[in-house]
Amino acid sequence: MSSEPAPESTLPYPPLHKDKKFVVLSDWDGTITNYDSNDYMTDNLGFGREKRREGNMEILSGRTTFRDAFREMLESVVKNGHTFDECKEVLKKNIKLDTGFKDFYRYCKENDIPVIIVSSGMAPLIRAVLSNLIGEEDAQEIEIISNDVDVKSDGTWEIKYRHPTSGFGHDKSQAILPYRLLPNPPTLFFFGDGVSDMSAARHADVLFVKIKPDGENDLAAYCRREAIPHIEFTDFGGALGVVRSVVNGERGVEEVLQAGKA
Ligand SMILES: [Mg+2]
Repeated sequence: MSSEPAPESTLPYPPLHKDKKFVVLSDWDGTITNYDSNDYMTDNLGFGREKRREGNMEILSGRTTFRDAFREMLESVVKNGHTFDECKEVLKKNIKLDTGFKDFYRYCKENDIPVIIVSSGMAPLIRAVLSNLIGEEDAQEIEIISNDVDVKSDGTWEIKYRHPTSGFGHDKSQAILPYRLLPNPPTLFFFGDGVSDMSAARHADVLFVKIKPDGENDLAAYCRREAIPHIEFTDFGGALGVVRSVVNGERGVEEVLQAGKA
């Protein structure tokens, strides 16, 4: 575990789920959704995919921080004159859900397993796309721990980081670590796909890493390089089988991690 002091959070956290046996924490963009919404904006409204992938590689190699590279990507969208509301509408039209997520979410709800979105994206965009995809009621129920946005009177906007002093902008480990201090900590499942999940990768009990057909599997590359045990999955339908077997007690955490694939 990291010995670094916890970065100060500029945004509140929801209360911990203290009495649960299992808790699911998941990245939003590219994990619960089929396409990363910030990548979508950068690629189509900002400086484009090529420059964005260069930024992702700089983050993965440690030459720059997620916070600084991601801010530049979003700034390129603002520089091209796109308002926040316009981005919201474009994303509502173009971002779809992982095909297995609805069933996965229903299973968790029926089995008293909280699902918490832990994202480096901006809360209002996540809520807008989520309610569009799963309906207002479920969308209001799911907790979101993310970054926020500062929309200015001249129509420009900028990301407001939860942890501005951290190179991660939002250090996702801070959503996980408090669970470890509980007298009876739950088993923690974390789902992610990209560079924004590097801060969380080492801290869950069971890490699921999404493998996508577009080949942008940066978290998988990071986990292989750093030898971090994880389970590769392609959709939440496959992941549900693994989660269910652990919840039922059929398989242990070590066993599913050793298998390495959903
Ligand atoms: Mg992601």
